[in-house]
Amino acid sequence: MNRTRSLARVLVFKVTLAMVLLSSVPSAHAEGARLKLSIDASQAARRILRVTMNIPAAPGPITLVYPKWIPGQHSPVGPIGDIVGLKFTVGGIAVPWQRDDVDLYAFHLQTPAGGSEIQAEFYVVGTSDESGFLLGDSSAPSQVLLNWDQVLLYPLGPPTDGQTIQAQLTLPPKWKFATALPIQSQAGPLITFQPVSLTMLVDSPLLAGLGLREIDITPRGEPRAHKLDLAAESQSAVDLPQSVIDAYRRLVAETGALFKARHYDHYNFLVWLHGTYEDGLEHHQSSDNRLPEMGLADSDWRLIEGDLLSHEMVHSWNGKYRRPVGLATPNYQEPMRGDLLWVYEGLTNYLGEVLAARSGLWEPDDYRNRLAAAAAEMDNSRGRRWRSLQDTAISASLLYGSSPEWQSWRRSTDFYDEGSLLWLEVDSLIRAKASGRKSLDDFCRAFEGGESGPPTMIPYTFDDLVRALNEIVPYDWAGFFRTRLTSLSPRAPLLGIENAGWLLTYTDQPSELDKAIEAKHDQLDMRYSLGALLEVNGKVLDVLPATAADSAGLTPGMKIVSVNEHQFSPHVVREAVRAAQNSTVPLELLVTNQEQFLKLQVDYHGGERYPHLERDASKPDTLSNILAPLTPPQ
Ligand SMILES: [Zn+2]
Repeated sequence: MNRTRSLARVLVFKVTLAMVLLSSVPSAHAEGARLKLSIDASQAARRILRVTMNIPAAPGPITLVYPKWIPGQHSPVGPIGDIVGLKFTVGGIAVPWQRDDVDLYAFHLQTPAGGSEIQAEFYVVGTSDESGFLLGDSSAPSQVLLNWDQVLLYPLGPPTDGQTIQAQLTLPPKWKFATALPIQSQAGPLITFQPVSLTMLVDSPLLAGLGLREIDITPRGEPRAHKLDLAAESQSAVDLPQSVIDAYRRLVAETGALFKARHYDHYNFLVWLHGTYEDGLEHHQSSDNRLPEMGLADSDWRLIEGDLLSHEMVHSWNGKYRRPVGLATPNYQEPMRGDLLWVYEGLTNYLGEVLAARSGLWEPDDYRNRLAAAAAEMDNSRGRRWRSLQDTAISASLLYGSSPEWQSWRRSTDFYDEGSLLWLEVDSLIRAKASGRKSLDDFCRAFEGGESGPPTMIPYTFDDLVRALNEIVPYDWAGFFRTRLTSLSPRAPLLGIENAGWLLTYTDQPSELDKAIEAKHDQLDMRYSLGALLEVNGKVLDVLPATAADSAGLTPGMKIVSVNEHQFSPHVVREAVRAAQNSTVPLELLVTNQEQFLKLQVDYHGGERYPHLERDASKPDTLSNILAPLTPPQ
């Protein structure tokens, strides 16, 4: 996924441009004071986790903090409101605590004389609303997805790379589990993990469940084990077609061929198949992927989310191994700066989609439908006239939680979809300037590949990026990016598509992707015709400014009751839009706006319009070259 530093941090970053080793080797941390964390997940099905911690502490004041800025979420969204029953003791005697009145994620307390260790106890309670990566959306009757940052406190001060922690976990009886975290021992439902850095623990979520299915997808000749770990409440959700398993195996092979190095010893795709959430969270040696129950087994879902696992895996290189300096913070309290998210997330979006096509998760046509959808959305975004792409990255932590209402006007986290357009343009430019002898793949290899080894992080700046591109093909890359980052042009950057031999067009036929979204998301996309995105029940999700719907007064949050005096349904509104092509009479909508009924006249006669890519025969089909696999079928 994806979202002021002090003088001291500036100095730190100057010296950390060398490699920062996030060691998982137990002996590297075994000597220092060690945090101990014990999680009782036996009530996970009730969305309750019990936490006990032992925290070494010298007598005197100490500040313990709860993780606030979460890696990969790029936002201060640590769910501190879900902590209940917090208490501290030293030698069995209660120690009072006081929350900082400015930083609400910090707890101040005093270790009494003679004390050497604080015991903390609390519970994390999830709510039943399905929202994000919180416990409420990470626990189901027989499965749980544990993000360690939500169940621990740590001393403020030393960087998390330098704090050692040993975790224990008690699961409900008979539950199986999968994680990239190294295991020390297991006795029935009690698992003891090896001591690792706090950074490594937080980077290693754990998926557990009664019916966990693990599929080995290590390609032939690949020395590192790659596993697909699936947790669902039903067997049909984890019974994947062999062709899908083969495509994921090929995805692993394709990442090897693209980057030529791996920064992990083994990799687990943790896949949570439950609820309605669709998103993923990246880690060095694993990824936390969340989809509805049939998210991998159903072909419509695969059209919509077929690039989820490839996107999150790309982050192992682009985001984890190479990370913008503003996101390479020393702990989970220091604010992150998202100015380079158009690389961290934008390049990942591009590569995740390309790899979905190269590995066979998508057909080339599926990729083109996705690209057409992104291009149309960016090209019709009203918000791009006032807010630059750069500003969407800087304000990412606001935009991730922003409402879909008036999204086109406000702009959202466009650095994802516009990132796909931007990096396709970079790819097509490199290919053209090098007469086909080089491509963005060469940049990925040089900048993101490096040497294989355990998880390592190398921060980078804008200048580092520009320098690395210039080593592939000399060009004014700094000027190229600055122009696109600061542009307030009403048009999206479509040159990448056009250079690659294709054109954005509109027809009256929805693409297979449009149909899948309508079926699975219960949405009717009339943004490029009437100017509104609707739910199939008539609720208005978004209205594009300066369209017929906007001129009529249609507003997000309204609900369309009838169209031309017929009860609203997707079929009725489509029929009315088609009929209006041969008429000058406006569509009449009866809508509700809270408790008010209104009649609106929508003066639109252009018919249905859905985006597609059309081949431009005057140019070579570079896009098909980009999508061609680098490896043989697995
Ligand atoms: Zn991402």
